Amino acid sequence: MLYLGCHLSASAGNLEMVKTAQSIGANTFAFFTRNPRGSRAKKEDPIDCEKAVQALKAASFGPLVAHGAYTMNLCTADPEARRFAAEVLCDDLRRMARLPGNYYNFHPGSHVGQGVETGISQICDALKLALAPGYPVTVLLETMAGKGSEIGGRFEELKAIMDGVGSNEIGVCLDTCHVSDGGYPIVEDLDGVLAEFDRIIGLDKLKALHINDSKNPFGSHKDRHAPIGEGSLGLEAFRQVVNHPVLKGLPMILETPQELPGYAQEIALLRSLEE
Ligand code: FE
Ligand code: FE
Ligand code: ZN
Repeated sequence: MLYLGCHLSASAGNLEMVKTAQSIGANTFAFFTRNPRGSRAKKEDPIDCEKAVQALKAASFGPLVAHGAYTMNLCTADPEARRFAAEVLCDDLRRMARLPGNYYNFHPGSHVGQGVETGISQICDALKLALAPGYPVTVLLETMAGKGSEIGGRFEELKAIMDGVGSNEIGVCLDTCHVSDGGYPIVEDLDGVLAEFDRIIGLDKLKALHINDSKNPFGSHKDRHAPIGEGSLGLEAFRQVVNHPVLKGLPMILETPQELPGYAQEIALLRSLEE
C-alpha cells in the first residue's frame, strides 16, 4: 500500500484536512502543529479531532506526520529561549494525543556554535521532559541536510539523540532532499544508504518519508526542495523509493513547492510509478 500525501493548512481544522487530502488523492498528510515560523497554536477542538480520527479510519489512511514549528530550536544557546522551545514541544505532544497512532516529526535543532555534543544533550533534555511512557504518538527526528549548525545531518547524530533519551519510542523521518544534500547517495545507491541507516539506527526506526526533489547537487548541505522529477534527484530515484520493499508501506509526505493542484499531480505521478 502506498501512503502518499502533502502538507496541508491546519487552519480549517483536522476533519477539513482529511477531506482536502481525499480530494487530491492523498491517504496521509502532514500539517504544522502551530504557525511554522512562529509559535502560536490554534485553540483545541476535541470534537473536530474525534471526527477526524473516525474519518481517517473510515478512509483507511496511513499514519499522519505532523510537523513541529521550524522556530522550535531545542538546542538554542539562550537558556530562556531553550526553555520556551521545550515548552512548545511539551504542548505539541500533549495536543497530538488527541490524534493517537500518528507521528510528530520535528527538526532536531541547530546548536548555533555550542557544538554538536552540547546540542545533542540539550535536545535529549527536552525530549526526556516531554516524552511520557505509553504516550500514544510516536516522535520522529527528521534527517537534515546539515546546513549551518543543524544537528541530524548524520545518522550517527540521530542515533546519539535516541540513545541519550533512552526511549524506544523515538523514530526517524527520512527526507529525500535532505539526505541527498547531506551526502547520502540515494540516487546512485538507495540500498547502500538504507543499509547504512540499518547499521547505525536500525530500519525498524524508520517510520516516515518526506519525498522532495532537491534544487541543489548531491552533498551541497543546502536544503532547497524542488518538485518531484525536476531536481538533482530525478524521477528515477522516486520510482525506486515508491517501489522499495522497505519504504513502500511508510507514509510519504510531499514538501515540494506546490499548491493543492500541483500536489494532486505529484501524488498521481508517484502512484503511476508503482510497479
Ligand atoms: Fe521538516
Ligand atoms: Fe522535510
Ligand atoms: Zn527541507
